[in-house]
Amino acid sequence: LPQAERLLYPPETGLFLVRESTNYPGDYTLCVSCDGKVEHYRIIYHNGKLTIDEEEYFENLMQLVEHYTKDADGLCTRLIKPKLMEGTVAAQDEFSRSGWALNRKELKLIQAIGKGEFGDVMVGDYRGTKVAVKCIKNDATAQAFIAEASVMTQLRHNNLVQLLGVIVEERGSLYIVTEYMAKGSLVDYLRSRGRTVLGGDCLLKFSLDVCEAMEYLEANNFVHRDLAARNVLVSDDNIAKVSDFGLTKEASSIQDTAKLPVKWTSPEALREKRFSTKSDVWSYGILLWEIYSFGRVPYPRIPLKEVVPRVEKGYKMDAPDGCPPVVYDLMKQCWTLDPVVRPSFRMLREKLQHIRAKELYL
Ligand code: AMP
Repeated sequence: LPQAERLLYPPETGLFLVRESTNYPGDYTLCVSCDGKVEHYRIIYHNGKLTIDEEEYFENLMQLVEHYTKDADGLCTRLIKPKLMEGTVAAQDEFSRSGWALNRKELKLIQAIGKGEFGDVMVGDYRGTKVAVKCIKNDATAQAFIAEASVMTQLRHNNLVQLLGVIVEERGSLYIVTEYMAKGSLVDYLRSRGRTVLGGDCLLKFSLDVCEAMEYLEANNFVHRDLAARNVLVSDDNIAKVSDFGLTKEASSIQDTAKLPVKWTSPEALREKRFSTKSDVWSYGILLWEIYSFGRVPYPRIPLKEVVPRVEKGYKMDAPDGCPPVVYDLMKQCWTLDPVVRPSFRMLREKLQHIRAKELYL
């Protein structure tokens, strides 16, 4: 913890920051400077909500910070000033040095196209190129994204939504600029077109697109943690690309357990927060099911509460209508309870390519 102490130096009552918990990775800790000392409050996550005192509950970090900005409500002081992180400044420098810092003046925000968990998604124009921009306003929240944005700078694959650059503003706002994906999220795409428009070749192509991205992440030891059709976007030329891979890793562990994508998350990840490439493989199996059912919500007709207990006993969804048996077979392999036995993305990709080459999807 000396690091948080260092960051909140010189002491100033009400100066605060939010960091990832060292003892509980994936959870957050609120650090507040007060009368020359730094207090650390664990942010607990409970029944899908965030709380410090188990009395007052919040939907997200921003609401929590806002609440304690108005009133100390049991903390040593009310929150007065978010620490402009050394990290923020350093990140800015680092992004500049590595060529990822974009010029705010050249970015035109045109209109909102979506709502993310942490801020709006806008369509914009950067030097004549149409771009998507994630705007993260809250300083305390922005901090949580900076490390991840720098991870995104290291990843490049035709089936990952490409980061174009980052703008870190002095007031702590963060803009993450990515390529614009004209056809929106895969789940909406599948639902709106449906089986009359999308043939077996399209479905297999989407499955392969995502699998190739995941094989790349697997080879680079990167765990997505929130793979689902809603986090896959479709480009103008119908290429499916995995999105949010940089942002979800840390930031969603809160959401993760909150609004939690229970239906997409492997049993061991739900039980012990054991996220791994193999838990991504489980989610990929669910995503395959979503693709072949044209965007249905998984585990139809099973009450949410019953999903986990049934899955833990080995229950697996039926094949979607019209799904080729060879593809359903892959889904079931992804849903092997023992993560060690699940296939790798590399293996899945080879099998999907085989299915395509032999036209086994017809
Ligand atoms: P997200 O916060 O990533 O879940 O994004 C929320 C919504 O914004 C998505 O469902 C998309 O409709 C839209 N969106 C996000 N990123 C992009 C992008 N790169 N291109 C086009 N639309 C996007």
